[in-house]
Amino acid sequence: MELPLKHPIFKTLATIVAEQNTEAYVIGGYVRDLLLGRPSQDIDIVVHGSGIGLAEAAARRLGNLPVSVFKNFGTAMFRYKSMEIEFVGARKESYRANSRKPIVEEGTIDDDQKRRDFTINALAISLNKHDYGTLIDPFGGLQHLEQRIIKTPLEPGITFSDDPLRMMRAIRFASQLNFTIERNTLRGISEQARRLPIVSQERIMDEFNKIMLSPEPSRGIRLLEETGLLELFFPELVALKGVETVNGVSHKDNFHHTLSVLDTLSLHSRDLWLRWAALLHDIGKPVTKKYVKGQGWTFYGHNHVGERMVAKIFNRLKLPQNEKMKYVQKLVNLHMRPIVLAEEAVTDSAVRRLLFDAGNDIDDLMTLAEADITSKNEEKVKRFLANFKIVRRKLKEVEEKDSIRNFQPPVSGEEIIATFHLPPCKAIGDIKNAIKEAILDGIIGNNPEEARAYMFKVAKEMGIHTP
Ligand code: ATP
Repeated sequence: MELPLKHPIFKTLATIVAEQNTEAYVIGGYVRDLLLGRPSQDIDIVVHGSGIGLAEAAARRLGNLPVSVFKNFGTAMFRYKSMEIEFVGARKESYRANSRKPIVEEGTIDDDQKRRDFTINALAISLNKHDYGTLIDPFGGLQHLEQRIIKTPLEPGITFSDDPLRMMRAIRFASQLNFTIERNTLRGISEQARRLPIVSQERIMDEFNKIMLSPEPSRGIRLLEETGLLELFFPELVALKGVETVNGVSHKDNFHHTLSVLDTLSLHSRDLWLRWAALLHDIGKPVTKKYVKGQGWTFYGHNHVGERMVAKIFNRLKLPQNEKMKYVQKLVNLHMRPIVLAEEAVTDSAVRRLLFDAGNDIDDLMTLAEADITSKNEEKVKRFLANFKIVRRKLKEVEEKDSIRNFQPPVSGEEIIATFHLPPCKAIGDIKNAIKEAILDGIIGNNPEEARAYMFKVAKEMGIHTP
């Protein structure tokens, strides 16, 4: 089968390959995505002989482009227009039972295809004069693309034991592309799962985050759970599983609920960290779960416990310990607020307080809270969604009137000190707080004039007078 290689770079490469009297192939993700009709910015070229030599010659021909050379790995890359092109010499890899580091030798395209993770990633296209554009498909990758199957080129036990990261990659591709993992390959993952911990946490999380960003992240997460991989690096998520019943009263399965919230939210947002907030919104439930007679199942304070768990989980999983984590913590803490608000009377002051606490993350919080409504009771869902509309409208009105989103105290501590000639003392904070509360309750507007007048009133009540 011949494939059209449209990008002009391929003709240039083919000319140099012929001049150098060598052989080269486009391989891996680019070929897979070309056949799937997915856009791709990375081109991998595998060469018989020196990848670095071909990269340098090609970069010179294309206008003296700068080349990054990684001598230790025998690879080189350069950027051409929007593309990133990487060159590597064809390799043969053999693994020993007692080491994860393979013995790497020079090899042919055939050897190189054997060391690839999946049949759909082992596809290559020739850049050689005699068969330019021909698809080289030793393992039936094309058929598997059509059947939407993930399958290892060799016996799965060997492929996964050699490099356990491939188990994460299999599930990542299944989730990203909406493919099925072939039965034998899936069994291979379950059998080799316990080897995952020899892979670095960062590489595991790179794949996990790609699962999080796939159209329906629950697909990948369910596969991780079913194969036993999830409990190895994310036991807190597995702890959400299960239903308990006391006196005939059951709670919902929080694992399924979480995944359903994550999928619903993913229809509305591609933001990785908002998706993380959805994944972790109920993470504190198993720890706080309690059956209370007369009330049924309760999860008191699960949002606060969850907020604290986020920090521990991010630390252990080597996720960023920065404002992204704080953002996830904040949303986990606040996730029930819009629902509680929508259940009760939607008053201006309750809306103002929500806006004050959520600040600029209010829209994300509303998206999360809305996705959290997974009740099977249609009437209930209808009522919630209708109330959410009211909350959103009120949020807009209140923000236009009072600008609470980025609340800055209209009277500063310095001004209070200067006005009343106070030494540093608790009263300053109390006055500031009273002003803030009055604004949030709608007693005064969010402006310096009303705030100052209120400052005098509160100070007087506290027995503080202007000198
Ligand atoms: P994406 O760009 O979406 O991450 P990709 O398949 O292009 O997908 P890369 O990680 O860039 O991902 O890998 C390029 C190619 O290298 C793959 O298509 C595959 O052939 C090979 N490959 C990558 N990682 C492995 C691995 N752990 N084991 C075997 N082959 C691998």
